[in-house]
Amino acid sequence: MPTSVQISRRGTTTVPGMPLRARTLLGPGPSNPYPEATVALGQPLLGHLDPVFLGILDETSDRLRQLFGTANRRTLPLSATGSAGMEAAFVNTVGPGDVVVVAVNGLFGERMVDVASRCGAEVVRVDHEWGQPVDAERVLAAHPSPKLIAAVHAETSTGVRSDLEPLAAGKGDALLLADCVTSLGGIPVQLDEWGVDLAYSGSQKCLGTAPGLAPFTIGERAWERRIEKPRSWYLDLGMLGGYAGAAAGSGGRTYHHTAPTGMVVSLHAALGRILDEGLDAVHARHAEAGRLLHEGLAELGMELFAAEGHRLPELTTVCVPESVDSAAVRDELLERYDVEIGGGVGAYAATVWRIGLMGANARPERVALVLAALRAVLGR
Ligand SMILES: *Cc1c(COP(=O)(O)O)cnc(C)c1O
Repeated sequence: MPTSVQISRRGTTTVPGMPLRARTLLGPGPSNPYPEATVALGQPLLGHLDPVFLGILDETSDRLRQLFGTANRRTLPLSATGSAGMEAAFVNTVGPGDVVVVAVNGLFGERMVDVASRCGAEVVRVDHEWGQPVDAERVLAAHPSPKLIAAVHAETSTGVRSDLEPLAAGKGDALLLADCVTSLGGIPVQLDEWGVDLAYSGSQKCLGTAPGLAPFTIGERAWERRIEKPRSWYLDLGMLGGYAGAAAGSGGRTYHHTAPTGMVVSLHAALGRILDEGLDAVHARHAEAGRLLHEGLAELGMELFAAEGHRLPELTTVCVPESVDSAAVRDELLERYDVEIGGGVGAYAATVWRIGLMGANARPERVALVLAALRAVLGR
């Protein structure tokens, strides 16, 4: 038995066997996992070539297809966080000289520009004011024949949703890549219906699992035009397909890297929980929680940052009231209430807070908690 120790209010509690304080994670991720995902982590560990595990992996891919709204054969959880999903998307599809148009309306669009540039692509960036959605017309007009167009579905840095359908409708010969890290499991995603060629997500946001996996999907059109030998060994989709995804059902699994089996079992459980509840019900639960938070913040006299009509329910950006020390409030929320919220990003670091209601946290009681805590700390 671990003995009880008391270190500080920021770290350790006195509960034996449970050395870390339980936090309510209402920032931009990670969110508190679904209980099913946490329970699954306590299961006996399986080998990565164990037939039982491979069955769970195949089922995980099936479940991901349902969430992504796709029939893509090549759908799998990559063994790394969401940013690796981004990197895999670019490194497998674009190389030196390829033209890539990136819609930039926040930090993650910015990151896409960086990643595409490192692949040697000729990047055409289309900048938007932060807090605004992507303007499809401007993006489509930026270059007559790009190989790839990339956009972020749910910009976690600003709390903005952008519609992917208009981009898909006008993409012509280009491939369309979507970052669905904060949208998947929170708001509807329909890749096939919309016409998105490849997309990725992350386990720790609305999917309600710990960080560590990047769900990834790529359609035939993008697959046919991929780079045969990408510069990344680890994220080479052709090689990964020998183990997961492409080989599903064929029986011939070959070792590439050791899949994080415990994490996959956990994600499998979270996805099962989401599908049991029903995707529509899960989306409605997020929408309702977001609405309650937006209303509650307005009642506290606070202003929302993201453009009206494009606000994400799962990630709310709110302007820090004048003369309030943004970081001090966040510290106090954490110390007094064990509630974590996020600060702003870039130029908005000190003037915006980000409040996440993702996955298991998309519930009225979490909204009530964060509103009550904010009210107390702000003295309103
Ligand atoms: C969190 C996030 C990422 C990066 O994911 P990591 O898991 O932090 O690597 C990428 N895009 C968006 C929109 C995100 O919110």
